[in-house]
Amino acid sequence: MEFYEKTLSVETVYEGTVIKVERLTVELPNGNRATRDIVRNHGASVVVPIINDEIILVQQFRKAADREFLELPAGKLEPDEDPAVCANRELKEETGYSANKLEKILTLYPAPAFADEALHIYLATDLIKGEATPDVDEFITAKAYKISDVLDMIDTGRINDSKTVAGVLYAARCMGIKG
Ligand SMILES: [Mg+2]
Repeated sequence: MEFYEKTLSVETVYEGTVIKVERLTVELPNGNRATRDIVRNHGASVVVPIINDEIILVQQFRKAADREFLELPAGKLEPDEDPAVCANRELKEETGYSANKLEKILTLYPAPAFADEALHIYLATDLIKGEATPDVDEFITAKAYKISDVLDMIDTGRINDSKTVAGVLYAARCMGIKG
């Protein structure tokens, strides 16, 4: 790596249930030192569930942005969990559907400037309907939307959650759909 930064020391600043914040002292390629504040978590799996010409999205309130978002179903990985196992679980919990076919399409780093979080995005097809079982602190509405309408909502900014924009556009490309 041409511009590698060697870690000289690590201080844990905060450790919560979802994230840990570390302050690193690093050595720069020119030998100088710098400080890097880094948010660490286990990452998450994201699912693009497709039924014919529709995508299932979930509507939920996000306190960090203090508003509701229309998003792809997603959820945090347990430590050392296989992302495909997590994707199946979150799809079932949030939408009720199970996928007979799950295909990894993308790994996304939403904020590499300060976070190590990686998102594992899967295309889910051949879906079987069941009962949704969201977590006790999750209030979610799952609904199917026409793919063309979802692409329009990205164009107009109605959908602007990064994993949803990237996942839907990439899945549409994989499926040969032009927006
Ligand atoms: Mg979730």
